[in-house]
Amino acid sequence: MVQPLEQPVTEVKGVGSAVAERLGQLGVRSVGDLLWHLPRLHQDRSQVKPIAQVEVGQQEAVVGCVRSVAPGWRRGRKSVLSAIIEDATGQIAALWFGMPYLSKHLKPGTRLILWGKVTMGRRLSLLAPEFEILGDDEPLNAQRIVPIYPASAGIGQKRFRRLMRAALDAFGPGVPEILSPDLRQARRLLGIGEALEQIHFPEAMGAAALARRRLVYEQFFVLETAVALRKRAIQTDLAGVAFTINARIDGRIRRRFPFRLTAAQERAIAEICTDMMRPRPMNRLLQGDVGSGKTVVAAYAMLVAIANGHQAALMAPTEILAEQHFHTLESLLAGSRVRTLLHLGGAAAAERRRRIGAIASGEVDLVVGTHALIQRDVEFAHLGIAVVDEQHKFGVLQRARLRWKGTHPDVLVMTATPIPRSLALTAFGDLDLSTLDELPPGRQPIATRVVPPTQRHDGFRLVARELAAGRQAYIVYPLVDQSDASDIKAATTMVEHLQRDVFPEHCVGLLHGQLKADEKQKQMADFRSGAARVLVCTTVVEVGLDVPNATVMMVEHADRYGLSQLHQLRGRIGRGEHASHCLLMVDEPEASEKIAILAETTDGFRIAEEDLKRRGPGEFVGTRQHGLPPLAVGDFTEDIQLLMEARHDAFQLVEADPKLARKAHRALRHAVRTHHGDAIALASVG
Ligand code: ADP
Ligand code: MG
Repeated sequence: MVQPLEQPVTEVKGVGSAVAERLGQLGVRSVGDLLWHLPRLHQDRSQVKPIAQVEVGQQEAVVGCVRSVAPGWRRGRKSVLSAIIEDATGQIAALWFGMPYLSKHLKPGTRLILWGKVTMGRRLSLLAPEFEILGDDEPLNAQRIVPIYPASAGIGQKRFRRLMRAALDAFGPGVPEILSPDLRQARRLLGIGEALEQIHFPEAMGAAALARRRLVYEQFFVLETAVALRKRAIQTDLAGVAFTINARIDGRIRRRFPFRLTAAQERAIAEICTDMMRPRPMNRLLQGDVGSGKTVVAAYAMLVAIANGHQAALMAPTEILAEQHFHTLESLLAGSRVRTLLHLGGAAAAERRRRIGAIASGEVDLVVGTHALIQRDVEFAHLGIAVVDEQHKFGVLQRARLRWKGTHPDVLVMTATPIPRSLALTAFGDLDLSTLDELPPGRQPIATRVVPPTQRHDGFRLVARELAAGRQAYIVYPLVDQSDASDIKAATTMVEHLQRDVFPEHCVGLLHGQLKADEKQKQMADFRSGAARVLVCTTVVEVGLDVPNATVMMVEHADRYGLSQLHQLRGRIGRGEHASHCLLMVDEPEASEKIAILAETTDGFRIAEEDLKRRGPGEFVGTRQHGLPPLAVGDFTEDIQLLMEARHDAFQLVEADPKLARKAHRALRHAVRTHHGDAIALASVG
């Protein structure tokens, strides 16, 4: 049976096919979509004033009768329609510009309510007022608090209000309630029917706020129920490998690390070991600021799996990062029996077949690669753990595909983008969380300076000084190629100039995403060995390169990047024993302010929160990639408290009724299925 709210929006009185098509452009297809198309704000037009008391310069509502209409005169090229409106206390003119067709509604004697700005020219007037002819029904456009809807594909505000009123009258009472009375009482939430009525046509401004709260909660509650179902399904329904970890294995792995682990690394490893010993698949997010040493933690986990006779895979979002990880792991494993393989895309067919064969037969233990690892024909012999680096650049789907290969391997997701708590709870809400909140000791702080155009020379002088002292430098450009339309200096054109005119005595390298894989590897090797002293690059270095001798980074057009991205870039320096400098070059002095926080702090979490606040979660990490739903109402940062409450309640509910089988949960189950279908599918497994 089709639920009332899932009927097409044409079921609403006043919606014909033309209007339905326009609504479709706004994503409104069903009755439910329409009811959840919420006002952007409300305007208090509840006070109706006698005409004698309106104030010039104010927006006022008046009720009166049309006394006369004088259409058609022109001012410049626009026609002006004017009507005289009167009530018991006086008269006011109403003026509309370029809307001669209104005259057919304005017959003398018609009773109207009008709302608009009062001016005093030759006479007292209302400028282009909204008006509504008064009949038997309560007015929708004035004498009340009035909803203002978001930009609307050619559907005017008045029409929207009328449609919404019709939809609420016909369908409001039948909207299913998914929150139990107990929950509503505990969290002081309005009933759904009341909330929808009050968000559209509130009795008072406070009522709209209460209604909003209920609807925000509901959205989070449905989302978090889906998250809870998924998490529970993974933890209880799927068989994983129970790895053995004992003192011998632990000792053998640790001997490979040339340093003592930080307390934070020890904590993360302990959490990971607990997961890995359980016969359920691990599903954990390891987050830590850039340089906090995540790779070592991942290496530990992978070596546990290998010591148990399983394979380990590490998947990175770019070839450069995959190559860097491979390099790091190879040097950690030098002289061991672990058989490693780097698998990038673009290999010749025969080579590709050889690698895939080695993976499938179990001839290799540790495979590092890119997306190439999750191609359909790649089958692991016995994959024990998959480490996914920089999750935010992978789709959620891809994460799932890795999970389903073979048995259910443990999954460790690493991210260097510190994820604000709210996002970690939602986008990654089905993952357990380990955080590296400390950097390895002995790190030199990075001095960051925002450099305005007038001080560019100082910037280059500093780079030259570091080079003279034996250090290396990154110079970062936003684009690869100069496009003639833009004044952005591109890496490829600048590299010649820098080599010839600026640093003639040093070898200048060039690295960007469009180079061939072997050319990338050569450039990275040259910079790593010190053969190249300056590396001109695009943001491909954002993640990956680990060259402790590089102590200075100059970022051109720095204000064109997001704060978190700049912070990531900066993480390429400050990795060795020497003090490091980051120079953020801006094109205009005013741009300095936008990125000033980077000079103040190196705390990635603070910077990420600031970024999130400024740009919203979509910009921040790519909402769609994360599977974060677009919110009809509410905001992942502003409404974090409500999000936490909804999460708590949803997890409790799923604990009590893991398949949402109870009758009382039918409406909730339906909502979760509609909005987050895959979670229900997973929960039905096993
Ligand atoms: P992340 O991936 O978190 O950005 P990495 O794993 O690349 O960090 O580590 C950054 C650098 O710190 C590497 O050069 C690594 O060898 C080094 N490192 C990691 N852990 C430690 C530690 N406990 N003590 C000293 N150096 C460490
Ligand atoms: Mg790393």
